[in-house]
Amino acid sequence: MDLNTALRKLGGVAKLSELKRRGVTVGQVEAALARCEVLRLRKGWYSLTHISPIAKRAIIDRGLLTCVSAASELGWPYQRMEYHLRAPRPVEGVRTSCRRIAPSRAGANVGPIDVIEDYLHCQPPAWSLALVDFLTRQQGLSESQWRELESRVPQNQRQILNLRSGVPESPLESVFRYTLIKTRLRHEMQVKIGRYRVDFLINGKLVVETHGAEFHASHHAWEKDRERVLWLRSQGWDVIELTFKQVEDWGGLERLIRNALKNPRYRTRSFVGP
Ligand SMILES: [Zn+2]
Repeated sequence: MDLNTALRKLGGVAKLSELKRRGVTVGQVEAALARCEVLRLRKGWYSLTHISPIAKRAIIDRGLLTCVSAASELGWPYQRMEYHLRAPRPVEGVRTSCRRIAPSRAGANVGPIDVIEDYLHCQPPAWSLALVDFLTRQQGLSESQWRELESRVPQNQRQILNLRSGVPESPLESVFRYTLIKTRLRHEMQVKIGRYRVDFLINGKLVVETHGAEFHASHHAWEKDRERVLWLRSQGWDVIELTFKQVEDWGGLERLIRNALKNPRYRTRSFVGP
């Protein structure tokens, strides 16, 4: 097997011994290094040139990316990009609180269940729910993997796992859903009104549309959103549109929502339950 193929199969990073096991010779590695086609990260560790800076750094620090760092590598949602590591010993200036690993495991891959376990342990509950909702929607874990995860985590984190739903379509919807559950505001999601499906209907009365930058930033999406809100209002519905920042700054928003629910001017329908 040639070096590039072997590295790609091993996730872009590998120990020389693993490469040798796949039939790569030391001569091939040295030639590729001379042509700048691979990187030597530390003694005996090689990678493709395009691996991410944090993956590179993890190898140098002799740790494994986990939690938000692993989530970012896997294309999973996370609130804030930080460098979180499973490492055999603390690394200066690095968040290694997400569990230590045995030195013998350094460089191995952290499995998805370990990553989620660390994430639940380390990140705010609303974001943990955003991750498990995302994985439910993507069918990222099998039923037996979910059960294994449930058996590993403490009660408060198991509650978050039990709330998981494949209905939310974005992390913002999951974060908002978590807040509504916590504050006991009755809500339905993805409710059909006319030809639209609205993100949330609170107490059968207040329509809430959440606008994460990734899906609503284009000019076309912006026009469509305005059109939809105008139509809903013309039908007598009270509508609020929320951004990430507004959802995270919950204090003032809760008052606004509770006041809106008391306003008799707008349309109501019976609450049909989640
Ligand atoms: Zn962490």
